[in-house]
Order: sequence, then structure tokens, then C-alpha cells
Amino acid sequence: MLMRFTCHVAGCLALAALLVAVAGCPKKKAAETDAGFPADTAKAAKSEAEPTAAVEAKLAQADLLDGKADKIVTRCASCALRMNGTSDHTLKVLDYTLYFCTERGAKTFAEDTTKAVLALEIPEG
Ligand SMILES: [Zn+2]
Repeated sequence: MLMRFTCHVAGCLALAALLVAVAGCPKKKAAETDAGFPADTAKAAKSEAEPTAAVEAKLAQADLLDGKADKIVTRCASCALRMNGTSDHTLKVLDYTLYFCTERGAKTFAEDTTKAVLALEIPEG
């Protein structure tokens, strides 16, 4: 009777330990995976897509300064869009061609195009 009782308890403990081992590990692994790469990847993709849309919106405004929505920004972005650039010094940004008044202006602008475009203030008229 005593022997049988002891075996029963030991069996229960072994079974409980086995359940914890089996149920515990995979659950912990899944939680680690959830908190890891997928969220970071989504965040990175989002932050890459947003500036592009903002750059495009800014270029569309700059494009209209010469009165034509032809995807050619004839105003020199290096001169805060207040001077006319020339077709001798151009820079392609997305679908737009930007005209600059000097080669140096175009090169400086090209160093960090996204930042430079976003920093542009569209002048009135
Ligand atoms: Zn200029």
C-alpha cells in the first residue's frame, strides 16, 4: 500500500515535469521570435517608404514653380528655388529632373538628396 502510493506520486511528478519541459520550451521560443526580427523589419520598411513619399510631394511642389507639371524642376534647388537652373547641371531625383545653376550646387545637393529635398522651402510664386 505504501509502496503503491509512493509510485503514484513519483509518476505524477515525472509526468508534471515532462509536461513543463514539453510545453515550456517551445512557448518561450515563440515569444522570443515575436519580439525579435519581424517587428524591426516592418519598422525599417516603413521608415524607408515615408521619406520617399515626402520627397516626391516636395518635388511636385517645386516642379509647379515654373508653371508646368512636367517633372522638370527648372528652379535651382541649391538657391532655395529662387534662381533658374540650367540644363547643363542636372540631377535626377526619383522621376524628376532638377536644374541647378552650377555643377557644384548639383553635387552638394546630391550628397544627401533626401535631406536636401526635404529641407527645401517652396517659395510663394
Ligand atoms: Zn543655384
